[in-house]
Formats: sequence, C-alpha cells, structure tokens
Amino acid sequence: MFGLMMDEPLLISRQLAFAQRFHGAVEVVSRTVEGPIHRTSWGAVARRAAQLAHALTRLGVKPGDRVATIAWNTHRHLELYFAVSGMGAVLHTINPRLPPDQLVYVVSHAEDSVLFFDTTFTKLAQLAAARCPSVRAVVAMTDAAHLPADLPGALEYEGLLAPEQEAFAWPELDERTASSLCYTSGTSGFPKGVLYSHRSTVLHSYGIAMADALAISAADVTLPVVPMFHVNAWGIPYAAAMTGSKLVLPGPGMDGKSLLELIDDEGVTSLLGVPTVWANLLAHLKSVDRSLTTVRKVVIGGAACPTSMIRAFEEGHGARVVHAWGMTETSPLGTANVMLPKHQGIPYEATLAVKAKQGRPIFGVDLRLIGDDGLEKPHDGATSGHLQVRGPWVASAYFKQEPTDVGTHADGWFATGDIATIDPDGYMQITDRSKDVIKSGGEWVSSIDLENAAVGHPGVAQAAAIGLAHPKWGERPLLLVVRAPGADPSREEIGAWLETRLVKWWMPDAIEFVEALPIGATGKILKRTLREQFAEYRFTT
Ligand code: AMP
Repeated sequence: MFGLMMDEPLLISRQLAFAQRFHGAVEVVSRTVEGPIHRTSWGAVARRAAQLAHALTRLGVKPGDRVATIAWNTHRHLELYFAVSGMGAVLHTINPRLPPDQLVYVVSHAEDSVLFFDTTFTKLAQLAAARCPSVRAVVAMTDAAHLPADLPGALEYEGLLAPEQEAFAWPELDERTASSLCYTSGTSGFPKGVLYSHRSTVLHSYGIAMADALAISAADVTLPVVPMFHVNAWGIPYAAAMTGSKLVLPGPGMDGKSLLELIDDEGVTSLLGVPTVWANLLAHLKSVDRSLTTVRKVVIGGAACPTSMIRAFEEGHGARVVHAWGMTETSPLGTANVMLPKHQGIPYEATLAVKAKQGRPIFGVDLRLIGDDGLEKPHDGATSGHLQVRGPWVASAYFKQEPTDVGTHADGWFATGDIATIDPDGYMQITDRSKDVIKSGGEWVSSIDLENAAVGHPGVAQAAAIGLAHPKWGERPLLLVVRAPGADPSREEIGAWLETRLVKWWMPDAIEFVEALPIGATGKILKRTLREQFAEYRFTT
C-alpha cells in the first residue's frame, strides 16, 4: 500500500522560490572582483536567476547541457548556481587552480557549452575557448565597464541579464535530474566527474542544516570561505536559501585581513572552510591583537583540523569548532563533530580528544570499516580499516564511467580511500589516506596524528609525515616541517615535544626542515610529490 502524500519532486528551484517568498529581504553580501562590497537580497537573487535562465535559453542552453563557471564566491556565482540547475541544465564548477592540461581535460570531458568566468581568470577562459570546441560562448561575470579587452567575443554578464524578465517558469523536473558536476582534485591521474542530482542536493541541504550537523539557520549570518568551485561550497548556498540564512560571500578576499573586515562589518556568526584558511585568519587576529566578537561557530573540514586550532578558536575567541569530514563524492558532508550529553561536565582537555575526531555520521550517511582481509572491523575506537560509506548523496558512478569505476564494494558501498577508526559512540577518526599510510612493522602509523602533534608546536607552521623504506620495519615516518615565520625550532626541540604526545613507535625517524610543502588544487598537501622528492632519502639511524 502506498502512502497518500503529494509526490512533489525535490528541486533546487524550489529552494530559491522558498527563499524569495519567505526570506526575500534577507541580505546576500559579496566582496566583488571589481572591488566594492555588493549588497543584494534573496528576493533579488531569485529575480536575477530568472533573468539569467532566460538569457541562457536565448544562448541555446537546453536541459542537460553543461554550463561551466570559473569563479569566486560572489552573488553572480550564486545566481548561476540556481539559474543553471533550476532550468534543468548542469552547472559545472571548475577549480581555477587546476593545471592547464587538466582544465582543458575537464571542459572537454564535460562538453561545456557556455563558460562563465570572473575576470581574474580571463587567461583560463582564453585557454578553454581556444582548445575546447564544445564551448560556444564565454561570458565575463562583470559589467561593460570591466569587460576584459584580451578575450574578444566574450559576452558581459550584466548586459546579458538586463533585457530579460524577472520571472521564469522553472520546469517540473524529475528529481533525479543531474544538477551540478564537480571533478575530484585528481592528485593522481585525470580528474573524475561527480554528477549531483536535484534529489541528492536537496536531501544533503536538509542534512547539513540540522542542529547536530552544520546547523544553518535563519538566525545565522553564514560566511562560506570554502570555494563555490569545490563541491558546491559544501552545499551551503542551497542550505542557506532553504533556511533563509544571511549569506556573506568573500569573493577573492580569502586572506585574514579581508575576512576579518567582512566578519566585523556583517556580523558573521558562522564560518566554514579548510584549516589553511583559518590558520591565516588566526595569524592575522594575533598580529592585530584582536578577537572575534560575533562568530559563534567555525566549521573546519577538507583536511584534518589540528587540536591547536580547535583550542585557538574555542579558548581564544569563544567560537565553537565543528570538525567535519566529507569528500567530493559525498556531496560532501559525511560526518560532523558535536558533543553528546555524556560529554557535559568533563574537563575541556578531555573534550579536545573527542573534538579532534572527524565526527559522527549525519542521518543519510552510513559508515563502516573494512580490513585488508575484506572483513568488517569493530567500532572500538582502536581498530582501523578502510572507510566505506553509502547514502542518497553518495556517488554511485563517475560521469561517463561504468559504476564499477567509482570503487564501490560489490554490495553497493563507496570506498572512500580513507583509513579510519570508529569509536563505540560513533565518532569516526581519519588516520590517513590509504595511499599515504605509513606501515611500520605491519602496523599503521597515523600520519595525521603525527602532523597534528607537530603543528601544535608554536615554532611549526606546517608539517607532513611520509613513509620511507626501512630495512627492518618496512617503512618509517619522515617528518617534514615548515618553520613558523620568525621561529627557529631545532630538531631536538620538536622531537622532545612529540615524545610527550605520541606513542613511541609513531615517532618520526628523522625531521627535515623545508621552505614550503607542495599543495594541490584544493589546498591539500601532495604527499605523492613529497614521496618522489624524498625517494633517495636515507635514515641515518
Ligand atoms: P575532496 O574530494 O577533494 O574534498 O577530498 C576528500 C578527502 O579529503 C577525504 O577523502 C579525506 O581524505 C580528506 N578530508 C576531508 N575532510 C577531512 C578531515 N576533516 N580530516 C581529514 N581528512 C579530511
């Protein structure tokens, strides 16, 4: 027997219509590429998204066509998010940090028909226009006064919208229709396309907005520093529309000073981004001797958040940290770290050990650990295994590839490539990427714990642990350290610091200082490059 409820499809256009109708006056504030701060509202975003959908129709964009963006977090990018998906086309957000050959590859693979770009990225648009035959039109996301001279034929965003009507009959799509496309960072091989649907996006929006997830609400002023070209800015634009949160978009200003200005001027309560961005903000706050006054919550994910960073925000600035884990293939949110009633009243130091974990799954995502033997491992907080996930916002296949290529286990789970533990309370902790594990004497050394302990030292700005061949143990860790500006810690000093924080056999066999660490397109340390660089390195002991 079927229930007798309305079969309303879950559509992105409904999120925007809701924001327009019930939160129309709520502000959307952006730092623009041209410079000034731009103020608009959810109501105006909806009207301009309608104009954009008409303009795209005029340009010949049809349902299912891919429309690309190379752009910062701004109101125009937000309009593209809703207009392209809303009309039934697919928004392909491109990471501007991709190497040129990979950029050409993703545009060609996606067969993008129209390409929108911020003028910062004119060179990349030129490259795509010249080398990708699928691209029929390029649009500079600016006005006539700022149109770049060096890309003849480029259209201008404001001029494109101006003549169009402010209402659009958003189609009643099947909720499984593709809505957006994002390629994985591709640290090895070419990037792979993850194709989201309206259904997965709307369900994920409900999931992340929950109080025990990222807690996005109308009471919040939300600043996603996570780029809109990376996994739909963690789905925040959609959840903000659905909840009527004021949205503050940082444009190209991701440095500590620019972010602090926005936070202060707009009364931001909720920050979301990767650890490297927060390290810069914390350093800036320290240099100007300031603390955050309006921020209540900082969501940190995309890479492991060091305990020292959690402490800095919570003790130094009175903002609660939510450590979160996810990946492009999981829309991205899989787990979020919030405390349980049993943690109330325990000493702060003890809560830090829990908060450093990547958190508990949110409803909609199921987790399990599989050992090298193919068997499921216990959730005892100690046994590590290959992390697998499943749920309605987890990829079942990559774009234009067979489902088996996604790395799914035979019974429909997605193999994340992460190694993790899960404790009896359900807190998952990532110890490594499976291709980065350091295996010493048959046991895994957690490079994340090692790095986390190292960056807790005030003289260490960044740290990376890699496994190098060792005659007795198979592999042993080498720790690479970037010194903090103005600091000059010795190897012995760092070694002594680590000794009090790590089990003995996790101690690095050597510590080397480097000027910088190689960083990939999504801000992650490229361990493979480091292993190549240090391939000839030999431990002396
Ligand atoms: P991407 O698809 O580029 O977003 O990368 C996803 C990968 O980033 C995951 O599989 C993890 O290896 C890593 N990652 C994401 N969040 C965290 C976190 N909180 N702690 C440790 N690693 C993380």
